[in-house]
Amino acid sequence: MEIKTVINDKLNKLLEVETDDKYTVEAVYYRGDTLCISTQLGCPVRCSFCASGKEGLIRNLSDREIILQYELAILDGLEISNIAFAGIGEPLLNWENTKKAFNYFKEKGLKCSFYTTGFPTKNFEELLEINHNGITLSLHAVDEEKRKKLIPYGEPIEKILDIFKKHLDKLSNRKRKQYSVGYLLIKDVNDTEEELEKLAEISKWLGVGVSLLKYNEIEGIPYKTTSDEDYEKAFLKLKSLGVRTTLSNRYRTRKIGGCGTLMINRLTEKNN
Ligand code: SF4
Repeated sequence: MEIKTVINDKLNKLLEVETDDKYTVEAVYYRGDTLCISTQLGCPVRCSFCASGKEGLIRNLSDREIILQYELAILDGLEISNIAFAGIGEPLLNWENTKKAFNYFKEKGLKCSFYTTGFPTKNFEELLEINHNGITLSLHAVDEEKRKKLIPYGEPIEKILDIFKKHLDKLSNRKRKQYSVGYLLIKDVNDTEEELEKLAEISKWLGVGVSLLKYNEIEGIPYKTTSDEDYEKAFLKLKSLGVRTTLSNRYRTRKIGGCGTLMINRLTEKNN
């Protein structure tokens, strides 16, 4: 594997990592201490808003390929203390290799957090029990029908939330702060007052906060980003309903390198 850097400023880099079979995956370095890494070449979940899942899955990354994203970034001179399993792929669908990489990172003293759709639930249950440093469950919709449109593959929302709730109920308030529900706000798709109220209800029932993400528009995908004004309104609405809410930081909203924008073979496409 080798590394090619695409965007590069002091605290933020998009790293293209080429595999031996000549695919490229992306990892993002942000905030001067965190590396967001990929676990799959493409993604079988095929979320309708996401560039990473547009073409489906090519193959899983090996544990070595997951680890190499970190090792090559270190060789590139980056200082890393946190790993976010939040790049291309659903970590639970390449669970054995993800676990091996996770163990490696933990042995190095790194903090590891996960973004997941919770599918498959058998692996979600296992993830909840490992020595992680944070889990965000990507919800993005509050009813089954809409979630299926946004996240086509997975198990029923109720089943996933029940598993999450059972786990969270065993934890202290302090420990529960490491968990959240991820909600990607998409203009005219999942942003009604009623949906935000239901989201607040769910998060309070679970006892966790909401990570409210702003949608990044992607070429070839018809969804639109919400305006700054509406994004702030949604934030204030959740706050007024008593929900601990965090907003997308500037790294998450970049057109290249922001949430949902990572893709495989960006260089190949550019070279063609
Ligand atoms: S949002 Fe995550 S799970 Fe969904 S297609 Fe993109 S990488 Fe896969």
